[in-house]
Amino acid sequence: MDLASLIRDVPDFPQPGIVFKDITTLLQQPAALREVVDRFAERYRDQRIDAVVAIESRGFIFGGALAYQLNASFVPVRKAGKLPAETLQVAYDLEYGTAEVELHLDALEPGQRVLILDDLLATGGTAAAAVQLVEELGATVAGIAVVIELDFLHGRQKLGRHADLIHTLIHY
Ligand code: AMP
Repeated sequence: MDLASLIRDVPDFPQPGIVFKDITTLLQQPAALREVVDRFAERYRDQRIDAVVAIESRGFIFGGALAYQLNASFVPVRKAGKLPAETLQVAYDLEYGTAEVELHLDALEPGQRVLILDDLLATGGTAAAAVQLVEELGATVAGIAVVIELDFLHGRQKLGRHADLIHTLIHY
């Protein structure tokens, strides 16, 4: 299935100069939604993933289904101020603006094997922040899965030694 053809480019959103990769058009197609989840599940089925750490908010869309398929727990990384219990926080730069994400302190056990999941890798700041949160809790990053990677932003470089763990379905 040609997943790329189902992603809509929205120019100048959320600000001038940014081409927003809109996945809602992909999500509208049941077979495409299944294909994304199935392809990730196939890739990670034998990797002993204990937890899918999904990034708010579009990572959540695929994260629940993937955690179910992998028989793993679902752990949300959320924007600052959304998680109710005690958290760890990391601030970082975005393609547009800055952000802070957090993770519940008791969301992961030391030694657990984690798959980080988001819809899109742009500058890599969000994924790098998620890696930092996971490792600060003593868990191991076993993979970083994204539906879309914007190669021209070289986000992989920000992931340093974790760059090889990135698995992308669609490159631009
Ligand atoms: P970054 O931290 O720069 O890798 O940005 C990744 C996060 O921002 C992801 O959670 C994406 O959903 C969102 N994002 C950044 N750039 C875009 C874009 N051009 N289109 C859609 N989402 C984007």
